[in-house]
Amino acid sequence: MVTQHFSIAAETDASGNQAVMVPLNRRALVPMQRDRIWRLRKHLVQSLRAMRTMRRPVESASPLRPEPEGFIGTLARAACTLCKGWCCKGGGEHGYMDERVMARVRQARPHLDARAVIRLYTERVPTSSYADSCIFHAKTGCTLDRSLRSDVCNSYFCTGLGNLVKTAEAPPAAIIIANHDGETRMSPVITP
Ligand code: SF4
Ligand code: SF4
Repeated sequence: MVTQHFSIAAETDASGNQAVMVPLNRRALVPMQRDRIWRLRKHLVQSLRAMRTMRRPVESASPLRPEPEGFIGTLARAACTLCKGWCCKGGGEHGYMDERVMARVRQARPHLDARAVIRLYTERVPTSSYADSCIFHAKTGCTLDRSLRSDVCNSYFCTGLGNLVKTAEAPPAAIIIANHDGETRMSPVITP
């Protein structure tokens, strides 16, 4: 059995094991307010209207990037779960959606009209979400699947996670440390 050592200060120890440092969402869950859903609907209507005037809707559609694969993907999911979505705080009632995202969603679902696309989103609004965060930010994480999310959401990594995802080789083992304002949570040692 190999004993795993982690140096939090150095973030990567001599064996290549990593401590991945991420923030921690400490917001409270609050019941969904109707006016938030109204603002989401308004934003989607505006985005769908803007989509209709796009010059090259196929070429300009927002890309659908895949998740990181393999062990790095496992670590990325573990980090976001432990952190509970700190980076979703700017999502408001727009979730970073725009006409390019609407173009991608409509092209992937040609049988749906604009009203049905709006319903796709409003049906995913949770009954409670984190205060001062994105309308889709529920206790279980984002209620949208990747195909409905913006490219901003699908491609963003905070600094600690971004450094891990950029590395060419996955570490042999890692722990995730989520911290904010004096509260720290740590994962068990994660191995492939
Ligand atoms: S990308 Fe970083 S800040 Fe965002 S949920 Fe994942 S660990 Fe948290
Ligand atoms: S749409 Fe999902 S991933 Fe994007 S900010 Fe909102 S909760 Fe976070």
